[in-house]
Amino acid sequence: MNMPIYLDNQATTPLDPEVLKAMLPYFQEKFGNAASVHHVYGREGKEAIEKARRFLAESIQARPREIIFTSGATEAINLALKGVAEKYRDRGRHIITQVTEHKAVLDTCAYLAHRGWMVTSLPVDSQGLVNPQSVAEAITRDTVLVAIMHANNEIGTIQPVQEIGIICRRENIFFMVDACQSFGKLDLNIKTMNIDLLAATAHKLYGPKGIGLLFASQKDPKVELQMQMEGGGHERGFRSGTLAVPLIVGFARAAELSLETKDEENQRLGELRDRLLTGIQDVYPEVVLNGSHYKRLAHNLNLCFPGLDGETMIMKMKRIACSTGSACSSASLEPSHVVKALGRDTELAHSAIRFSLGRFNSAAEIDKAIAEINRVAGDLKGKKITRRRVHAGGIE
Ligand code: PLP
Repeated sequence: MNMPIYLDNQATTPLDPEVLKAMLPYFQEKFGNAASVHHVYGREGKEAIEKARRFLAESIQARPREIIFTSGATEAINLALKGVAEKYRDRGRHIITQVTEHKAVLDTCAYLAHRGWMVTSLPVDSQGLVNPQSVAEAITRDTVLVAIMHANNEIGTIQPVQEIGIICRRENIFFMVDACQSFGKLDLNIKTMNIDLLAATAHKLYGPKGIGLLFASQKDPKVELQMQMEGGGHERGFRSGTLAVPLIVGFARAAELSLETKDEENQRLGELRDRLLTGIQDVYPEVVLNGSHYKRLAHNLNLCFPGLDGETMIMKMKRIACSTGSACSSASLEPSHVVKALGRDTELAHSAIRFSLGRFNSAAEIDKAIAEINRVAGDLKGKKITRRRVHAGGIE
């Protein structure tokens, strides 16, 4: 089968062959359970995990014991938000977040709101940026946690986490950062950024799916968490369950590769991204860029195509694989909550498409993608798009 060009690297990335190489022994001869420390099989697994933990911790200036391995970022975010909220319920029941967060944050906040917590969801400006001053103004005596993402998964906007971290530290409030899209891609330093909790996942940086981490500060400040998983007390009681040795090894190797190549990769992908934008704008100057021009991930391009329907376009662009937004909410027929938050009307928001580039994309692929996008947009221009409607019997 002739596979389409993959431009959906913010949904997930292909595994880097180097990562697979590092993981393979831990599926085969080194298969031990890392908790079985009485024999060499178990010890091999444990040593591999601790090495990976040290590397991942150091990459963000954390201590190894501050890293909790989870099944992914969704679980890490649940543990952070529910864990802090429940542990500090007597201190206060107010959480601050913002409207363009991933559903992992928004839905966990909704869960807490349903159970009596007060959640403030701050607006963003037309570029998707949160104003740090609005965080300061939203803080009350009841606030225990601020959760703001580092880089957005749909529009690539990079939030001013450093400034927000200063405010949270000054006010003695925990600061959680969803760093799924920036881990291994942007500079991340929990100390200089005053981050107390941070979630990341391997599958956005050419690592395996099903493994993530939560950094939870253990000193200055010490963040306590209500555990969310009963069981064998793994991960110092924060997250029971047999550790996935091959996936953890793969996570660390993926992070190592990303950090080694971060600057040149950002440079290369930024150039390819601009080439893609220019190639489309040359034919359709009316396309609207979603997100910030400058405070933006190098590999993200999110565009509205006025008068067209994003989903119809995606279905027709058989030679490329991209999406309207977050893979996690793509089953929804509502337009992206992120694009809507920028102030776009529903019609325009329905025309949004995210192209996210990655390590294995070439300039030749981008040129083919430009041709495909322009061809399909041309075919659809002038045609009336009737959006599918949901009714009791399903989707028509
Ligand atoms: N947060 C952001 C910003 C994401 O992009 C994703 C990925 O879909 C997640 C959270 C959830 O990560 P995971 O797939 O590891 O649960």
